[in-house]
Order: sequence, then C-alpha cells, then structure tokens
Amino acid sequence: MKLVMLGAPGAGKGTQAIKIADKYNIPHISTGDIFRANIKGGTELGLKAKSYMDKGELVPDDVTIGMLLDRIGADDCKNGYVLDGFPRTIPQAESLTRALAERDEKIDYALDINVPDDNIVKRMSGRRACPKCGSTYHVVYAAPKLENICDKCGAELVIREDDKPETVKERLNVYHKQTEPLISYYKNEGILREIDGTQDLEKVFQDIISILG
Ligand code: ADP
Ligand code: AMP
Repeated sequence: MKLVMLGAPGAGKGTQAIKIADKYNIPHISTGDIFRANIKGGTELGLKAKSYMDKGELVPDDVTIGMLLDRIGADDCKNGYVLDGFPRTIPQAESLTRALAERDEKIDYALDINVPDDNIVKRMSGRRACPKCGSTYHVVYAAPKLENICDKCGAELVIREDDKPETVKERLNVYHKQTEPLISYYKNEGILREIDGTQDLEKVFQDIISILG
C-alpha cells in the first residue's frame, strides 16, 4: 500500500502516519524528519535545507525530489510506504507519479487531513517532538506519560525550531499557496480521500482505517 498524507502543517499527518505505518507494517517516510536528521548530522543536505526550514519556506524541489525518490527505492519500500510531508508542490507530485509509472506503480490513496488554520496555531504551540525517533506529542491533546520524555524511546522532547508562532504563520501561507493545489491534483487522479482532522486523534485514525480497510 502506497499512501500520501496531505494537510496543513500541524494537521496531524505525522501522528496518523506513524499509526498507519505500525498497523500496516510499512515504513513511515517523513521528508521533514529526513531533513532534520541531516541538519543534526551536519551534512551538506542539512546545511542546504536549514535556511529554508528556519524561515518556514519549502526546501527547493531539486533537492527534495531526488532525496525522496532515492528513499522510496530502498528495499524496505517494496511493500509500500506512507509519505508524510511529500509531495508539497505540484512538480513534486508530478515527479512522484512519473517515477512510479516508470515501474508500473502508483499511489493508492492521498489522505487529506482537514483542519482550519486557527486550530492549527493552537496545535503547533503545544507540539513537542522526539529528536531521536520522530514521535510527536502535544502538551494537552497527546501528552507523553512522563513529562517531556518520549514514551517510545525515552529521549527528551524538544520544541521544533519552526513551531514559533511567526514561522507557523509563514508555513500556513506557504501551505495555502504551494501545497493546497495538490488536493485538486489527487482529486483528478481519483484517489483523494478527505478526513475531518478536528476530531480526537483516535477517531481520525478510525476514519482512516475505514478508508484503507
Ligand atoms: P503534522 O505532521 O501534520 O505537521 P503532527 O502530527 O505533528 O502534524 O500534529 C501537530 C500537533 O497536533 C502535535 O502536537 C500533535 O500531537 C497534535 N495533534 C495531532 N492530531 C491531533 C488531533 N486529532 N487532535 C488534537 N491534537 C492533535
Ligand atoms: P514537516 O516536518 O513536514 O513539517 O517539514 C518541516 C519543514 O521541512 C518544512 O516547513 C519545509 O521547510 C521542509 N520540507 C519538508 N518536506 C518538504 C517537501 N516535500 N518539500 C519542501 N520542503 C519540505
């Protein structure tokens, strides 16, 4: 099963992608996580990505597309994957469709998690992230068992650099301008499924399962 998660930053893509990956036993591939790991590791890719990410802008397509296509070519992707944060532009979506078509493959579903902007701002201010395993928490809606400690791997949670309110505003602008057109793109492909992301996160997951089967 090959899935794409759509939705504004903070809509809950990562939260749901991790649960989907776990249930269907496919890798969760987050381009944001890959960039953050590269920044942490001080790689050339990380260096390139950081200035864009800090401003809330998108990392250029020429950097992002090659990186993602390499990743989905790995052995663990043979039975599918859930893409979280990719594609974010029409050229990214087109490159993905084209690369898959060359191998007689396609994305099965694009799941659009719908959450209004004012709700997003609340979510982002309470988001805490695990720098080690990529798990995401919220101080109110999805608190870890021990304060500020990752339930899964025990690492100390951090506030993401780009979750500052000014940056969140810019990320939402970027989303509406560059990423939202993907909803029509996947609707035209006939694989878009809309989900009400304002519900409790377990209910959101149930809605996703009822689509995926
Ligand atoms: P994205 O990957 O789309 O940027 P996340 O999955 O990181 O979003 O979620 C953003 C924040 O909102 C996190 O703090 C997460 O715990 C919280 N969150 C996710 N889904 C829900 C939900 N259905 N209700 C309330 N909070 C949620
Ligand atoms: P995320 O973790 O998905 O919220 O992504 C964090 C940041 O990484 C984004 O604001 C972008 O700067 C960058 N990024 C992640 N995925 C992409 C992508 N597909 N295209 C461009 N930039 C991306």
